[in-house]
Amino acid sequence: MKTDRTAAGAAALPLANLTSLALPHIAQLHAYTPGLQPTEPGWVKLNTNECPYPPSPLVAEALRLEIGDAGNSLRLYPNPSSAPLRQLIARQHGLTEGNVLVGNGSDDILNLLVRVFGGPAAASGFLLPSYSLYPVLVAIQDGAARVVEFDRSMRLPVETIATSGAQAFFLTSPNAPTGVGFTPAEIETVLERFPGLLVVDEAYAPFARTHAVSLLARHPRLVITRTLSKAHALAGLRVGYALAHPEVIGLLDRVRDSYNVSRLAQAGALAALADTAYYAGVIARIVATRDAFAAACTVRGWFTYPSEANFVFTEPRTARGVAGPAVARSLYEFLLGRKILVRYFPSHALTAPFLRVSVGTDGDMLAVNQATDAWLQTAP
Ligand SMILES: *Cc1c(COP(=O)(O)O)cnc(C)c1O
Repeated sequence: MKTDRTAAGAAALPLANLTSLALPHIAQLHAYTPGLQPTEPGWVKLNTNECPYPPSPLVAEALRLEIGDAGNSLRLYPNPSSAPLRQLIARQHGLTEGNVLVGNGSDDILNLLVRVFGGPAAASGFLLPSYSLYPVLVAIQDGAARVVEFDRSMRLPVETIATSGAQAFFLTSPNAPTGVGFTPAEIETVLERFPGLLVVDEAYAPFARTHAVSLLARHPRLVITRTLSKAHALAGLRVGYALAHPEVIGLLDRVRDSYNVSRLAQAGALAALADTAYYAGVIARIVATRDAFAAACTVRGWFTYPSEANFVFTEPRTARGVAGPAVARSLYEFLLGRKILVRYFPSHALTAPFLRVSVGTDGDMLAVNQATDAWLQTAP
């Protein structure tokens, strides 16, 4: 987990206050903090909701085919609109190509949405806690933000969203880091009361009981974003997509990079999305492991939100029944010492007493449970 930057390398450059040349809001920007990505082997990595299983074997085959013998195809730019991929995605959701935009991960799509619909005079709204990239994307555009707070019930505060004054509102369903999913009926209530653009970030929808795609037919202000990073085990390939009214897709198309999805990403994503039988198996396994792990947390007496995602958000308690931020940190650090990496979010009162554990293999979860048993012996 070391960076390449060395003190010697920095000292070799002359002093210059280059930050003063940047736009003031960028000079003050707090960048998004991604989860740790350890490079040395031996970690049980349950901190960034990646898939513990490999992608469909058809993906590697498609990538080899795309590269060709000498990588000759890479001389050429990719399909600028990802047309074949758009067509496949549209068909799978019962939509048309004009309803689909493909991005370099769904983060690319979220960034486009903030750039098109947000700014200093057009507020973007989001919930807290939810995906912590939204406020960063808004801050990069010097955009106004409307923050709507959940309470501990994590029920959707429909009226507060409706009256938030946001031009575009970002709603994660199932939510991160809680795993709590919202039904199409709840999302439709928001669409009926909130007058702006509603972006439903469905990064975890493949693990959920429901999703909101059917609402697109009667709600032109709805945008749904999806990713291949989680359920499709392709976080390293960078592919995500938006489903929306053609007019919204057209606006996003004006702003995106002309070649925002590489040849390899398009080829790999096509192969992955075509192999629905493989992924049905992967998702079923992850859901079964998730439900067993969540049940084990509940049996320990730990409050655990019902998860519809590929992670479990749970409030650890010591053997004497104590919970809270210090207890969550204690378990986080204990697990870290045993090379088990989970996620701890100390910056918000509703998340600080909890840990978010990505669902790995049954073996990974056994390692977490055994280490937790050992921690329970040591904790005060
Ligand atoms: C992981 C995640 C994303 C990012 O997906 P990429 O396609 O990898 O950029 C977007 N939204 C939420 C809520 C996520 O958890």
